[in-house]
Amino acid sequence: MVDKKSLSLLKEMLESFGPAGFEVETAAIVKKAVKVYADEVMTDKLGSVIFTHKGTSELPRVLLAGHIDEVGFVVSGIEDRTGFLTFNPLGGWWDQVLLSQRVVVRTEKGDIPGVIAAKPPHLLSPDEMKKVVEKKFMFIDIGATSKKEAEGMGVRIGDPVVPFSGFSVIRDGKLGMGKAFDDRIGAFIAMEVVRRLAEQKVKHPNTVYGAATVQEEVGSRGAATVAHMVDPDVAIVLEVDIAGDVPGVQPQEAPTKMGKGPSILTFDSSMIPNQALKQFVIDTAKKAKIPYQLSLVAMGGTDASRIHMSRAGCPSIVISAPTRHIHSHVGILSFDDVENAIKLTLELIRRFDKKTVSSFTAF
Ligand SMILES: [Zn+2]
Repeated sequence: MVDKKSLSLLKEMLESFGPAGFEVETAAIVKKAVKVYADEVMTDKLGSVIFTHKGTSELPRVLLAGHIDEVGFVVSGIEDRTGFLTFNPLGGWWDQVLLSQRVVVRTEKGDIPGVIAAKPPHLLSPDEMKKVVEKKFMFIDIGATSKKEAEGMGVRIGDPVVPFSGFSVIRDGKLGMGKAFDDRIGAFIAMEVVRRLAEQKVKHPNTVYGAATVQEEVGSRGAATVAHMVDPDVAIVLEVDIAGDVPGVQPQEAPTKMGKGPSILTFDSSMIPNQALKQFVIDTAKKAKIPYQLSLVAMGGTDASRIHMSRAGCPSIVISAPTRHIHSHVGILSFDDVENAIKLTLELIRRFDKKTVSSFTAF
C-alpha cells in the first residue's frame, strides 16, 4: 500500500505550483525524491525529469510516463481603473467551475492570493442571472485598487496562476481529494514503481525509464522530447481517467468507476493502443488477479498521443486511476486504484523481456 512517507510526498507534489510551462517547483520535488533510489536522473531540455532503474538486460527500454503540469492560467492584462487581472487558460477549463475559486498568482515578488470573480449577482438582470458567465468576463481580484497598485505587488503580463486547493485524505483513508491529480498521480505512480523496483531488488529483463513530463495540458509537448530522448521500445502512460460514476454520465460516455480498479484505455481521440500490448496488459491483470476496467474517451488525449508516434512508432498503453471532477479545483480518487495501477505496472515490467516486447510489433 501507499505508505505514510509516500503519502506526504504525494501531498507535496499535488499542492506544488506547476501549470504547463512553469513546472520547475514540481520537477524539483520529483528530482529530490527519485535521487534516493534511481540509478540515474536526467532532465531533457524542456524540463521533464527522467529517472531509471536498470534490470538484467539493457533492452528493451520501458518508458513509464506521467505528466507533472496542471491546468492553470496566465495573466493577460491588468485593468487600468480597478487593478483586476484578466487571464488566459493554460489547458482546458470549463468556465462554469471557475467563479469564486481561489487562485495563486506567482510574481517576481512572490506568490499572491486571488479569487476569480465577475459582476455581482445582485446587479444582474433576471435574464443575465440565467446565463453562464464566460471566462472572458471574469477577472482575478488580488485586492488591488488600481493597475499601479497591482504592478507594485509584482504582477506582470505572462505571470502564471494555479488553483489554490489543499490535499485531503477522506473516507477513512480510502480516497484522496484535491487539485492536480491530473496528472501528478501518474508521475507519482511511475515514481512508486521505480522506488519499489529498487527497494525490493526486483529482477526485471529490461531498463525502466520513469518520466515526469511537462506541458501535457497544452499538447503533450514534454512527451515528445522525452520519447525522443529515451527511444522506448514500449510505453505505459500513467494517467487519470474520467470516472463515470457521476450523476448524468451515461456508461457509454465514461465506463469506469472510482474504486473498481485501474482503467486500461482502449481508445481516445489521440491514440488507438497497440492491440497485442493491450491484450497482454489485460491478460497480465487477470493472471495477477488485479482488478481492471476497460475505458474509452471519445474526446481528449494523453502523453501517449506523442509517444506512440515517436520515431518509427512505439507500442503504448494508458493505465489510469478513474478520477472524479478533473480539470477543476477539487478531484476525488481512490487509493486502491492507485495501488492496483502500481501493482499492474510492476507485473508488466517483470514480464517485458525482449521477446515479449518485440512480439507486439510482429505485424
Ligand atoms: Zn488534463
